[in-house]
Amino acid sequence: MAKAPEKCSFCGRPQKDVRLLITGVGASICNDCINAANDIIVADKQQQTQPTFAGKNELPKPAQIKAFLDDYVIGQDDAKKYLSVAVYNHYKRLAQQKGNDDVDIEKSNIIIVGPTGTGKTLLAKTIARKIQVPFTIVDATVLTEAGYVGEDVETILTRLLTVADYKVEEAERGIVFIDEIDKIARKSDNPSITRDVSGEGVQQGLLKLLEGAIVNVPPQGGRKHPDQKMIPVNTQNILFICGGAFDGIEKKIAARLNTHTIGYHTAREQKQIDRDNLLQYVSPQDLKSFGLIPEIIGRLPILTYLNPLDRTSLRRILTEPKNSIVKQYKKLFRMDGVSLSFDEEVFDFIVDTAIEFKLGARGLRSIVETIMMDAMYEIPSLTTNALHITLDYAEEKLSSSNLGRLKSA
Ligand code: ADP
Repeated sequence: MAKAPEKCSFCGRPQKDVRLLITGVGASICNDCINAANDIIVADKQQQTQPTFAGKNELPKPAQIKAFLDDYVIGQDDAKKYLSVAVYNHYKRLAQQKGNDDVDIEKSNIIIVGPTGTGKTLLAKTIARKIQVPFTIVDATVLTEAGYVGEDVETILTRLLTVADYKVEEAERGIVFIDEIDKIARKSDNPSITRDVSGEGVQQGLLKLLEGAIVNVPPQGGRKHPDQKMIPVNTQNILFICGGAFDGIEKKIAARLNTHTIGYHTAREQKQIDRDNLLQYVSPQDLKSFGLIPEIIGRLPILTYLNPLDRTSLRRILTEPKNSIVKQYKKLFRMDGVSLSFDEEVFDFIVDTAIEFKLGARGLRSIVETIMMDAMYEIPSLTTNALHITLDYAEEKLSSSNLGRLKSA
């Protein structure tokens, strides 16, 4: 019988370079290769259990997509509905039989307006978990007009190509989330005579991607240069979801609503306007006043908004989503054999602190991290198998920490 080698038969490292070497009949495997193999098996299992929506019969209904989003994202019902329908229609469009009739379902790109930290990226990322098409998130702030420092708009597609393993056909069915689209608004509503490097020029560049065209994409991203071999990508079936905070757009909405009300609405209708959350009335006109060019707005026909997160939402975000912050910490401790629990008041205290320091949902994690830091440091070396966090403990840990640091988190 062949003797098992004293090195890993997979990565080739000798016994002295690995922590564990398990020998079998004629082969050995190290602990790292076992882990890598395990990851492959887990990924394969996930793939098998996740529905693949390649075929029309397996299309998830909009209500199913929304239910999935509900598991991870708190509130934001309107945006969830719009996104679910858009993704559902995206699949239908991909599945449509060409040539049967003259009806060609065109894509409906989406724009989500919402204050920062209220779930735009989270929604996009969660959608990506559910769907089986290449998906990428890009930041509009790095884009500049061709010929200037920064990235050309085509590099958006480079990212999509990369996640699609350079399979062009796959990338051509993908979804791109363009974050911070408001940052490429032109500085004023009037077309400028001077060049607006980061504004209108980029919007013009983006336009051809959004409306569907064959775009030459630099395979490595960055700036295009003449000798580079380009990959042509057809954007006709790529769904674009744009997101932005559009800071200050409320003023434009309010101004529009006011003039509108004088002209067409009765005083009673005016009273019904919820002045605390004007974003819900956002219209394409407001995006134009903010500085998006009408052509871009026309290519983003689905406009939806996110609500600011109130106290109740923040409290729910802490514990309810499938991978809520609290669930993540419980898991971290479970991995050390420790069962972690909290007094309910601790959650209220965390939320109050987030509100007090105006940290929003993003701050919840930093606060929990601060409270749990000492325990995470000490517990693994102790023999305890349970840890209960009381309000006193949480208050003590937070007050002894540098709260100022949290403020700027
Ligand atoms: P943005 O709107 O700026 O893109 P994100 O989606 O990145 O904000 O949100 C930041 C973080 O805050 C998320 O990773 C998530 O932990 C939390 N969060 C924000 N909004 C929600 C929400 N509606 N439901 C659950 N978690 C949220």
